[in-house]
Amino acid sequence: MKAETACVHGAKDKNNTTGAAAVPIYQAATFSHLGVNSSTGYDYSRLQNPTREALENLVSMLEGAADTLAFSTGMAAVSAVMELFSPGSHIIATDDLYGGSIRLFENISKKNGINVQYINTCNIGEIKDAINENTRAVFIETPTNPMMRVTDISSVAEILRDKDILLIADNTFLTPYFQKPLNLGADIVLHSGTKYLGGHNDTLAGFLAVKSPDIAEKLRFIFKTTGACLAPFDSFLIIRGIKTLALRMEKAQANAAVIANWLLTRDNVSAVYYTGLKTHPEYEISIKQASGFGAMISFEVDTAETARRVLERVKLIMFAESLGGVETLITYPTLQTHADVPAKEKEGRGINDSLLRLSVGIENAEDLIEDLRQALEC
Ligand SMILES: *Cc1c(COP(=O)(O)O)cnc(C)c1O
Repeated sequence: MKAETACVHGAKDKNNTTGAAAVPIYQAATFSHLGVNSSTGYDYSRLQNPTREALENLVSMLEGAADTLAFSTGMAAVSAVMELFSPGSHIIATDDLYGGSIRLFENISKKNGINVQYINTCNIGEIKDAINENTRAVFIETPTNPMMRVTDISSVAEILRDKDILLIADNTFLTPYFQKPLNLGADIVLHSGTKYLGGHNDTLAGFLAVKSPDIAEKLRFIFKTTGACLAPFDSFLIIRGIKTLALRMEKAQANAAVIANWLLTRDNVSAVYYTGLKTHPEYEISIKQASGFGAMISFEVDTAETARRVLERVKLIMFAESLGGVETLITYPTLQTHADVPAKEKEGRGINDSLLRLSVGIENAEDLIEDLRQALEC
């Protein structure tokens, strides 16, 4: 089944006796037992819930996973995956990572004895050099947030082959519609389902899609023990969001291409970071490993004043954190998503006070450009 079809038809209620076209919201905390040592397969909703299960199976189908776990947020998924590692473990991570992941690694994982080393994972040699006997995982995000750097997933997987090191890929920006890291050799795919999978800026969710049943079982144990599971109603909303994933991704991407090219023509825009531009340093890798470029654009304007003016002047485009919804959002990484990243590190990565990030939505591209034009005018 192709992805567009799976998005629409992939969520199934195993217990459907009514012919209902949508998976119902099983708003139950607990399930009665037929007898001693007998279960319907559902006991308590922290462990299993039919609505969440339908969503998890849908995401497994889209990502090509053995099993998927649906969490209450993306950060709950990141923090659960870190529970796989013991004190003394060394984790290699992409340096240009989502700010919340860095905050978790630096303030929670470190305290638990896990040492995360940030490197430029676009450079495969740097990964080779960083691996030591305690390395247990390579955690990549590709494209990255907010600089849109791309890591060659299959080359990283190749280095890790025959080593006891997991490859974890945050696939939030491209979604399985454009990129399937498990097929490229990753072990675990992570999502903030809050973004494109939900798609409407109305629900928080997170996912871990897992290739091996053994690792999935370990994560299921962590999941039921720590308890950050996705609620039935939110599971329903994400199923509903995924039905239009293909349409939304195509439209948002088409808009993003038009906007990225328009931004290049503006006098007070000094740089445009979009993986779909032929001038992007990893354009060829993007083409090789993904079927699309997505709809995330970062751009640098001439001064911090211009950046602030744009944020305050946009009318249609919302000045808000988050991404991946039908509405176009603009964010100021240095003060929002990456506020907790040390200044020196931000500088080294190009996250300065002239950098803005756009999550392009599905509106009319001309309307979006008109809004950006008036906001950028001196
Ligand atoms: C938003 C985001 C997260 C965290 O997800 P939440 O749902 O906000 O907890 C993780 N990774 C990336 C790339 C994100 O954009």
